[in-house]
Amino acid sequence: MSVSTKKSPNQRRSRPELIFGDLWAFDPAPETADPKLKSRYDLFINGRFVAPKKAAYFTSINPGNEQPLAEIALAGAADVDDAYQAAARAFPAWSKLPGAERGKYLYRLARLLQDRAREFAVAETLDGGKPIKEARDFDVPMAAAHFFYHAGWADKLAYAFPGAKVAPHGVVGQVIPWNFPLLMLAWKIAPALAAGNTVVLKPAETTSITALKFAEILQEAGLPPGVVNIVAGAGGTGAAVVAHPLAAKVAFTGSTAVGKSIMRSLAGSGKKLTLELGGKAANIVFDDAPLDQAVEGIVNGIFFNQGHVCCAGSRLLVQEGIADAVLTRLKLRVRQLRVGDPLDKNTDIGAINSKAQLDKIRTLVAAGVKEGADLFQPACSLPPKGWYFRPTLFSGVQQSHRIAREEIFGPVLSILTFRTVDEAVEKANNTAYGLSAGVWTDKGSRILKMSTELKAGVVWANTYNKFDPASPFGGYKESGFGREGGKQGLADYVKLS
Ligand code: NAP
Ligand code: MG
Repeated sequence: MSVSTKKSPNQRRSRPELIFGDLWAFDPAPETADPKLKSRYDLFINGRFVAPKKAAYFTSINPGNEQPLAEIALAGAADVDDAYQAAARAFPAWSKLPGAERGKYLYRLARLLQDRAREFAVAETLDGGKPIKEARDFDVPMAAAHFFYHAGWADKLAYAFPGAKVAPHGVVGQVIPWNFPLLMLAWKIAPALAAGNTVVLKPAETTSITALKFAEILQEAGLPPGVVNIVAGAGGTGAAVVAHPLAAKVAFTGSTAVGKSIMRSLAGSGKKLTLELGGKAANIVFDDAPLDQAVEGIVNGIFFNQGHVCCAGSRLLVQEGIADAVLTRLKLRVRQLRVGDPLDKNTDIGAINSKAQLDKIRTLVAAGVKEGADLFQPACSLPPKGWYFRPTLFSGVQQSHRIAREEIFGPVLSILTFRTVDEAVEKANNTAYGLSAGVWTDKGSRILKMSTELKAGVVWANTYNKFDPASPFGGYKESGFGREGGKQGLADYVKLS
């Protein structure tokens, strides 16, 4: 007689760490929509795709498997100049167009993006490494929402700024990062066009594809040539975009280091500048918070988009009495996260955007271990090819640790504790950044106090990472200045007199 050594599901349930790993083995569920990629993408200048003057191209890589996706044209200074000349030629007619007519173009861009949403979501996931469920349910719909929202403002500028004479700046130069490529493009282009500006935009080197696919939509929408120009390239191309004499306004989203250098280079030039930079947000959990919801908020706050999020809740501040309970729940929850193929619909954590970013995460995690914080990572398997990093919790973190002060921009949470409300405020504000914060508590009065005292552009209460085109987003201190979204974001794209 053979005796089965297999445990019943109930027996296994007595060991919480095995619940999901053992019983919930999912079959692969890859998204199959065609991203309709070209093998080569040229620059988009004056309404047409044109080869770069120096015929230089670079390869965009899929971080999920390290395979090449497409050749991307690298814009040199002469190409950037062509883009600015085209934008300057387009400006008079575009800015004089009645607002309702500009609104129609924006509306059309939003609808065309919706029509091709699946295709764009797959392209975004392939090029950037984010889970398809995020590209599909967040990035692409939010990008379309920004165009819809600003379509509504285009003919209402006089009502947005009553009593003032409203005029666009002229040509705006825009440089965006790789973490939300299409969405950052929408945040930049939609308000600029609504207000009557024309645009030269540079996407990030590792994620240019959806910007250049968006250029196809610009053509399809019949946008007049030169109103939007897209010049791909590396840091040097970005420097040429911000330094061009025809740029009346520069809008930059990226790292604080590059933001500071842009600010220095533009000092005294008279150009309008807005900067959306890094962050190290405190997500603060009080002992009266609903713990299960808070744990979901913490997980969403740090593991959304692999933690490649400027407003990520990367510093968890937990009230001392509940610190152990929160950590236990977090460990259980983190063990259930699925790390792997970004194209799989069940994936929670996809690929790290680039090898360079993976190295940066590894360096900071090693520093956390060296400085004495306690590291926890689930024992999940990672795909053999591609750049991946396990979701990571650090407990016992001190304010002085690098992992408490520096932006890691990866799936790594630093956990600190506090005793009183004042200590929570002081620790939360003890950072060079000030982009966002989260507060979890049952007490409304405490939410109001915290949101007043926290020096952060956005404070979420009993939730995290909620966005709406009508809600302004931006920072304090080294997280930058200027706002994106809402009437405040629109205000940065107009001159008032
Ligand atoms: P980054 O290195 O500063 O790059 C951002 C963009 O600037 C990229 O297009 C980059 O081109 C370009 N660039 C690089 N050097 C430049 C220069 N000297 N002059 C002009 N442009 C230059 O930042 P990242 O590492 O890509 O992005 C991550 C950072 O962005 C994080 O710190 C994050 O917090 C921040 N971020 C902030 C927000 C926000 O709204 N506050 C949103 C998203 C991200 P290449 O790609 O070719 O290097
Ligand atoms: Mg790529």
